[in-house]
Amino acid sequence: MSLLHLEDVWKTYIMGETELHALRGVTLSVEAGEFTAVMGASGSGKSTLMNLLGCLDRPTRGRYLLQGEDVSSLPPDALAAIRNRTIGFVFQNFNLLPRTTALENVELPLLYAGLHGAERHARAREALGRVGLTDWAHHHPNQLSGGQQQRVAIARALVNRPHLLLADEPTGNLDSRTSAEVMALLQELGRGGITVVLVTHEADIAEYSSRVIVMRDGQVRSDVRRTARRAEPEAPAGEQHADAAGGSAP
Ligand code: ADP
Ligand code: MG
Repeated sequence: MSLLHLEDVWKTYIMGETELHALRGVTLSVEAGEFTAVMGASGSGKSTLMNLLGCLDRPTRGRYLLQGEDVSSLPPDALAAIRNRTIGFVFQNFNLLPRTTALENVELPLLYAGLHGAERHARAREALGRVGLTDWAHHHPNQLSGGQQQRVAIARALVNRPHLLLADEPTGNLDSRTSAEVMALLQELGRGGITVVLVTHEADIAEYSSRVIVMRDGQVRSDVRRTARRAEPEAPAGEQHADAAGGSAP
């Protein structure tokens, strides 16, 4: 069973007299543990696809099976429950609350999930630790670099222990070095078993994925699996980039 399965999915927006087909018959499956990049020109339907995969929206036509369950026509509250249980989201603009510490930002999904203070703190701290920000828990977003803010956002996405991480242009506001760090983190999460689907405009970001889907005019134009380039976390000064220890992840 695939983690995600779309079958002839259409998304149509009614604009006055005209219909705009943002997705036009998309069929694809994503297996658990895959690391997929979605590329394509602006307007090709990438965000629409991500919104459907993330249960933020429903297809106009076609079926979407998430972990084998048909979620195509569930009501909004049922979709919200599935989102909270199963899916983490990361956005280009981080979407952190400004007057709130890193820790509190990460706790927020747990607050919505009804967890109590002590467990909330513990799990948020653990998530911040996974992204290497234990020491920054009490800083506000404006005291953090762009890369650190995105790592807080990734911690927030992880705190509910999702199976699926959806990221729409997660490196769109980051310089290339910071982008590589964020990709190293996402790859590490992938090796830990989380399925990642990300949207990117940048070919060098897509290289870090093991599968590239190119969208065009609301359809899948190509879909290729290949060996991912391994993102290098920042190497300590004076050390060579030795990849010998890494090898290729299964
Ligand atoms: P991408 O993310 O690849 O740039 P989108 O999925 O955002 O593309 O958009 C695909 C098409 O659907 C575009 O033509 C866009 O204008 C249209 N579209 C997206 N969202 C809406 C909406 N809420 N209402 C009407 N049209 C939309
Ligand atoms: Mg988009």
